[in-house]
Amino acid sequence: MNQFLTRRFFILIPIMSILKIIFKPIQVLASSLNSKEDWNLSKEQWKSRLSPESYYILREEGTERAFTSQLNNEKRQGVFHCAGCDLPLFLSEKKYDSGTGWPSFWDSIQGSIETKVDFKLIVPRTEYHCSRCGGHQGHVFNDGPPPTGKRYCNNGLALRFVPN
Ligand SMILES: [Zn+2]
Repeated sequence: MNQFLTRRFFILIPIMSILKIIFKPIQVLASSLNSKEDWNLSKEQWKSRLSPESYYILREEGTERAFTSQLNNEKRQGVFHCAGCDLPLFLSEKKYDSGTGWPSFWDSIQGSIETKVDFKLIVPRTEYHCSRCGGHQGHVFNDGPPPTGKRYCNNGLALRFVPN
């Protein structure tokens, strides 16, 4: 990188931080509000339901380290459920190896997820969460395979696999 570009890069950092602060008010809550009242659990109730790792992903929008989930290599037929409330989210037929290190799907079960935009990495990303309990699952990108062209990049810790 030449000197000019380096300097430009260092000017960009404060500008981006300012933008991030400006966008902060429209940043959403750590986890989305659920649509079903039954799943309006308190922080303590969620903590007692989930492992600390799953709590971090589902309720605090965390991301597990790549290539750490056993579900990454799960190739059996079955259904992937929300680890928070057990709602079925993805079918094994729609899972594929994206090479990213996270379980990836090109489509979700209709009505099972909802999306919103987050600014965690400054650049807007589309976060998605379970439509029933609001638990954070992952992010969806437009570089997936046909027919949808979508890549649902999911945290394995947010899922529970039920083989057929
Ligand atoms: Zn759920």
